[in-house]
Amino acid sequence: MARVGIREWLALAPVFASGELARFGGDGNGPLTRFEADFSAKFGTGHVLTVSSGTGALIAALAAAGIGPGDEVLVPAYTWIATAGAALAVGAVPIIVEIDETLTMDPADILRKITPHTRAIVPVHMANMVCDMDSIMQIARQHGLVVIEDACQAVGLTYKGVRVGTIGDAGAFSFNQFKNMNIGEGGAVVTDDDRLFARARMYHDIGALFRGHLDNANEPPMLGINLKASQIQGAMLNVQLKKLDPMIRRMRRRYDAIAEILSASNAMRIGPHNDRDHAAGLHVIFDTAEEARAFAAENKRGVYRPYDSSRHVYSNWLPVLDQRTANPKMNPYAWASRKIEYSPDMCPRSLDILKRTCRIGLGENYPLPLMTYFARRMVRQRPASKGSLVYAT
Ligand SMILES: *Cc1c(COP(=O)(O)O)cnc(C)c1O
Repeated sequence: MARVGIREWLALAPVFASGELARFGGDGNGPLTRFEADFSAKFGTGHVLTVSSGTGALIAALAAAGIGPGDEVLVPAYTWIATAGAALAVGAVPIIVEIDETLTMDPADILRKITPHTRAIVPVHMANMVCDMDSIMQIARQHGLVVIEDACQAVGLTYKGVRVGTIGDAGAFSFNQFKNMNIGEGGAVVTDDDRLFARARMYHDIGALFRGHLDNANEPPMLGINLKASQIQGAMLNVQLKKLDPMIRRMRRRYDAIAEILSASNAMRIGPHNDRDHAAGLHVIFDTAEEARAFAAENKRGVYRPYDSSRHVYSNWLPVLDQRTANPKMNPYAWASRKIEYSPDMCPRSLDILKRTCRIGLGENYPLPLMTYFARRMVRQRPASKGSLVYAT
């Protein structure tokens, strides 16, 4: 987890002294301007727009791409509910796609779920595990679909040398406390597309005509909502951006060391990864749900902790499964191009994989020898029920 400390604290003082806390209003050279320039240079993307959350980033990107009522948006069965909620927030409906053992969208199931109403794919790089972007981009291009990457849980990670979030038509990042860059709450939209960027800017600022968001976009003014970030967030982001790559390096080192130790156990398998050489998210897969549960129970204490992320499984997204929105008349399911039906067991393969999987925390803020000590202990702790356990040396 990304830590916040004295450097963020010191970065805030000049913002308070300037009195210019709002996104727009100062001289245009506030911390957010610097952050967006630095983030865009580091990530190699044309445009960056800081917003108030990762959810807001997804909503702004979908709205900018013109996704709305009657459209279907493909989302994976394993993600935070915000991915599906963002599609609904713009009036479209989420269609839930199976994951594979990489814990990300299964390209084969994307093909099965595409209908004449599909407009967009939102691949989610879950828990620092990156999607099979080559296959996803190829499918999207063949079917004329927009790709909006949800990189909220993988800020800074790369897929084949390119930062995730910058591969699709647009990407969404979160800077929430539990993500790789932590400012409490925040997010960003990135894109290389000038028109998408102009529309996202207009949308995120309620439709404020006088700020010139659409001046060069040859677009009529349109309404949006307010998703603006403050300069306080910008000041913290400038510090967090510097900490990002060193933190990912620490995760990478721990991934390699821990994966090597755990791979000596024949009680579990290291989960596959779409870019193994740059992996910073580790999961292990067991043959049965019982074994996975026993492993999680044995290891639930200590800094090195496998955990069950059932909150992120579609079968727990109750408001989505029940198709319930704040006002029954503003319900995208009523505007859908066909009857959409969900059930808790509609993605059996995802449920089966997740039940047999434990995600392993990499402990990037703890010393490496401590983490390898825990990893060795984890291997030794396995009951000898499966016969010959191989011990790590
Ligand atoms: C956290 C998260 C979001 C939403 O980000 P917020 O900043 O909390 O709004 C979206 N998608 C995924 C996969 C996330 O983990």
